[in-house]
Amino acid sequence: MIQGRNKLSPAQIAGASEDHECEWVLKFVGHNLIPPAVSQPSFAILCPMNPFATIPIEPRYADFHKRYPALDLIGNTRMIEILCFREEFPEVKVYAKAEYTNPGGSLKDRPVRRMLLEALIAGKIGKGEVVLDSSSGNAGIAYAMLGAMMNLPVQIVVPGNASKERKMRIQAHGARLVQTDPLEGYDEALRESHRIVEREPGRYFYCDQYSNDNNWLSHYETTAPEILAQTDGKLTHFVGGIGTGGTITGVGRRLKKDLPGLEIVQIVPEDFPGIEGLKPLENPGDIVPKILDTSVVDYKVRVSSMDAARMCAILARYGIFAGQSSGAYLHGVYETAKRIRKGVIVTLLNDIGERYMSTGLWEAR
Ligand code: PMP
Repeated sequence: MIQGRNKLSPAQIAGASEDHECEWVLKFVGHNLIPPAVSQPSFAILCPMNPFATIPIEPRYADFHKRYPALDLIGNTRMIEILCFREEFPEVKVYAKAEYTNPGGSLKDRPVRRMLLEALIAGKIGKGEVVLDSSSGNAGIAYAMLGAMMNLPVQIVVPGNASKERKMRIQAHGARLVQTDPLEGYDEALRESHRIVEREPGRYFYCDQYSNDNNWLSHYETTAPEILAQTDGKLTHFVGGIGTGGTITGVGRRLKKDLPGLEIVQIVPEDFPGIEGLKPLENPGDIVPKILDTSVVDYKVRVSSMDAARMCAILARYGIFAGQSSGAYLHGVYETAKRIRKGVIVTLLNDIGERYMSTGLWEAR
């Protein structure tokens, strides 16, 4: 099935604009296009868990939430059942947290909220200091949004090839954008942010999401407990990728603490053209994030950008409009389902599909 999938050219997928052609594409790749709404068993059987369960805001942040009520919009995302693999793997249940419903449109609102609030509580952001970090773009949006909300000046360093939507949103919130050589990737944006701080050390609060423990802790304290509450602790697998490593480290540590038999599956993106938000880590020169704990990973699945795009197209036809890395994670889910044949897999829908209009993602369907 996957062999056949890899034979599809982008032109074949892009050309499948008519419904029947698109159906052919999706059937060809082994997924049922038609959402199986009518003839399926009752809701109680399909969704025995509690997708609406929420966890309380940590008391130490209560004052901030009172002062900036929009902080409440972050986290406690709904969990939805993903239906597109059900026919092929009837004994595998797949759930995904709709991280794209965070107000910044991505999962990164969670760590950025925690990193900023902890820095403010500890008095680390001096008066007038500019919050600085490097980002693939989504964390940059979260910093810009929260900076605007809490009246903190923000400067974000992104690789020049971050999507136009990311760059425009960062600037829309009034943050300053610095762009680095697209060919040098996330590592150059990271190095540039170090150089900026070294040049003018007193001017910035350097948040450094790649080595800030509050990044992974945000997932340890919110994403993972939400998953546990929403699945009633009945999941067997979690599929995630690595940008800063915050998600996989935080979710992995917490889920494994509570569910010792749980397996963590890591998405490994191809190097080029890569998948926005996921970092190449396997070449000798690649910078490994300080916070990344690879000991939580049990299994790896390699994913190409075409695998991710195909899965985004399939999700879109099921009414879910998520970005490229979400497609990559769902491809990892598919491969995991094929391997295990029975189980409960949870993953994340990391960001919103609109963020990729300018990137060609939706033309390559
Ligand atoms: N997907 C997207 C779209 C992202 O922006 C990121 C963060 N760069 C990730 C996945 C990976 O998240 P993390 O930084 O927690 O590893």
